[in-house]
Amino acid sequence: MSVINVKGTHDIIGEESNAFAYIENLLKQICDLFAYSEVRPPVIEHSELFIRGVGEGSDIVRKEMYTFLDKGERSITLRPEFTAGIMRLIVQNKLLATNELPYKVYYCGPVFRYERPQLGRYRQFNQFGVEAVGNNSPEIDVETITLAYTILSSLNLEGVTISINTLGDDESRNAYKEALKAYFAKYLDKMCPDCHSRYELNPLRILDCKVPEDQEIVKGAPKMKDYLSDAAKERFNRVLALLDDLDIPYQVDDTLVRGLDYYSETVFEFHYVSKTGNDYGAIGAGGHYDKLVKELGGPDAAGVGFSFGVERLYSVLKDDNLLPEDINNPVEIYIMPLGMNAKAMALSVASELRLNAYRTDICYEDVKLGNMFKRAERKGAKFAIIIGDDEVNKQEVVIKNLTSTEQKSCPLDKLVETISKEMGEDK
Ligand code: AMP
Repeated sequence: MSVINVKGTHDIIGEESNAFAYIENLLKQICDLFAYSEVRPPVIEHSELFIRGVGEGSDIVRKEMYTFLDKGERSITLRPEFTAGIMRLIVQNKLLATNELPYKVYYCGPVFRYERPQLGRYRQFNQFGVEAVGNNSPEIDVETITLAYTILSSLNLEGVTISINTLGDDESRNAYKEALKAYFAKYLDKMCPDCHSRYELNPLRILDCKVPEDQEIVKGAPKMKDYLSDAAKERFNRVLALLDDLDIPYQVDDTLVRGLDYYSETVFEFHYVSKTGNDYGAIGAGGHYDKLVKELGGPDAAGVGFSFGVERLYSVLKDDNLLPEDINNPVEIYIMPLGMNAKAMALSVASELRLNAYRTDICYEDVKLGNMFKRAERKGAKFAIIIGDDEVNKQEVVIKNLTSTEQKSCPLDKLVETISKEMGEDK
């Protein structure tokens, strides 16, 4: 029996792989414009990092982590998200003491969650995101949302809904948690087992429960907005006013609480339903946190960040035909050698063309010339270079323009010059 991929993982091949590169490059360029620099934390971390960072009350820590003992009996976890690892990286490398604040970074790479695979939901998927750490202000929250909005606009994703809410400061959240506990205590015996542990660990998580009967109970629960302190209200209103100034559209959603325990104050999510009607879930999400750096042994510093799911961005762009046509980088020149000696010459001709930045491929298989032309067409090549024994003897090649079908012989020492002229004429 042949071995297949692990459930919930997927192979990224061909056009999809080119699309991922396009998306990731665009996101990197925009992060660069906003003065964020890249960090690459390891994929594996001590499990304790996520238990302390993401929080014991989160679904991620309770049931979705890929955790194992390594050969030294250490508990290791494949990262289920980036933020905790980046805070560890920042604290361990003392980056807040040695950089201007906020310290602004972006990241991109695979994350792992043992979830039930379904549309838009994998067990290994890719996230692209940012963190700005060491400044606790509504302005930096707004810069982060602006960055995300710029990314979505550059991808031509119009009609994204930005949902935003505040979880308030500690005072507000503690009062709200108490109110939730008092409310849910009345219904707990009718609720799912998960909600029982959520009730103990973090009653805010009950608001995210997907069980339909529990959702009905959640509908009657107290609302965060009624428990906000004056300071928390003022901060949130300033975020909204700044977004208005920048003409960034949003919807306040007072049911939005986010699934990770570290968030406080501003939280937000990005939704887009493709024209096909496919709803892959949130395409991105993020928020502000103020305890995480300290929790992981660092100074008292707040941060804000967001993360996009690259698979979900790809799916909506693909569904709505928003991927540029030229992401596939077609071969420009296809070399067709006829025989052993021609193949040797093809290798050196290809090297010269590649050194001059022409995307070049060679037909290595001994097939008929007609078949080689079909391959050139399939690859989207503009020119074919044909090399037979005659050409080897005369140290020349035949160049065929595959659009005009004109062909001519060309001495090897004039090859690049001729191709460059032909490409110019072609444009
Ligand atoms: P989170 O870290 O849960 O806030 O997720 C951030 C983003 O990652 C989401 O908005 C999705 O776009 C993406 N995402 C989360 N979970 C999955 C998953 N299981 N499969 C694919 N993408 C996901």
